[in-house]
Amino acid sequence: MCRGSVLYSRQVMKASTICVQSGWQPGKGEPRVLPIYQSTTFRYETSDQMARLFDLEEAGFFYTRLQNPTNECVAKKIAELEGGVAAILTSSGQAASFYSVFNICEAGDHFVCTSALYGGTYNLFAVTFKKFGIDCTFVDQDAPEEEIQKAFRPNTKCVFGETISNPSLQVLDIEKMARIAHKNGVPLIVDNTFATPINCRPFEHGADIVMHSTTKYMDGHATQVGGVVVDSGKFDWAAHADKFPGLTTPDASYHGLVYTEAFGAGAYITKCTVQLMRDLGSIPSPMNAFLLNLGLETLHLRMPRHCENAQKVAEFLSTQEDVAWINYAGLPDNKYYELAQKQFDGGRTCGVVTFGIKGGRERAIKFIDSLKLCAIVTHVADARTCVLHPASHTHRQLTDQQLEEAGVKPDLIRFSVGIEDAEDIIADLKQALAQI
Ligand SMILES: *Cc1c(COP(=O)(O)O)cnc(C)c1O
Repeated sequence: MCRGSVLYSRQVMKASTICVQSGWQPGKGEPRVLPIYQSTTFRYETSDQMARLFDLEEAGFFYTRLQNPTNECVAKKIAELEGGVAAILTSSGQAASFYSVFNICEAGDHFVCTSALYGGTYNLFAVTFKKFGIDCTFVDQDAPEEEIQKAFRPNTKCVFGETISNPSLQVLDIEKMARIAHKNGVPLIVDNTFATPINCRPFEHGADIVMHSTTKYMDGHATQVGGVVVDSGKFDWAAHADKFPGLTTPDASYHGLVYTEAFGAGAYITKCTVQLMRDLGSIPSPMNAFLLNLGLETLHLRMPRHCENAQKVAEFLSTQEDVAWINYAGLPDNKYYELAQKQFDGGRTCGVVTFGIKGGRERAIKFIDSLKLCAIVTHVADARTCVLHPASHTHRQLTDQQLEEAGVKPDLIRFSVGIEDAEDIIADLKQALAQI
């Protein structure tokens, strides 16, 4: 069973094998399938054994808010997929975004973030973090390096960006962002939700920390809400000790333990677990970790199919008279095509395509109401094709002008291509286009 050790070995097998086999490794007579350890607590034989766990002198399980064997096995699998050394599961992607930054930022600190961002992350960083005394400067990720550099301050502690932004589908030049972050002595945190480690492993391009909403492709079946934070183990916190006192100076809540000294490359995730998870408690239930693991077992099969179908859908839409514009980095005339070819395995990005219908908001609504196979849901990155019109749903309180400012065109349709047969998806699009 997973023993709750702090550090994992770096990726040794191919991604497909990790998806299927990693994490749970049963011993003699143990269940073949990852068991759901639906238990809050774990038994010990002596008081001293338990005390050693509390002092972080030994790795082991004692209370599920801190660590649970089911959750631990799934975290290990994701760490291996990303090529990281340690990981922690959280109860949502939002919690993962929060933990990834809050683990190294405190009141009075500042960080830099790309403006192409998931709406929930934007609210968290721009509004909620402010209440904690943490400031965020948003930058255009496509701007020249000198321009982005201007956002840095002496109290800047990290840079955050999305591999492929939701819903604007901008592709982050990870190497460029990592270079800027490292020049300023801070780590790059990447939200890799849309690309998944099957298509892109940000650590190979210089990122230091990766987080995901596992609610999306990793689960892939829309059964659980979850998140994960993974550490590459490569950022040298001690070399920038003055910037990261939380990791490099004694923690009063653990008898003066210093994370970088006690845990080396495991310092960041250990602090995240024993301090943030201890105090804030956003753990996934073991049942949800089990469901996530089932999804992960086929991630390597689903991602190429999502991308293949999305490519066909994008190519079909680009030939349609009623389609005003289309955004998919797999199309050769897309702004991010070259970067996607370079940064993603086989040039595959994700299964999400955005486009506009001529005639604006009203015709967009008529169009999505006419879809039959493709369902209207507040979700993306699911095995079932789904569609959302942000101007009528997630951003409905905004006027057309406010929408433009938020980078969401009134006619923008977010189309998440599933793993059905592409011919059936395209037939549904065809019949809906014929009705508007
Ligand atoms: C959905 C999403 C999140 C938030 O995740 P939840 O699991 O819904 O909390 C964060 N980042 C991206 C890119 C997302 O798509």
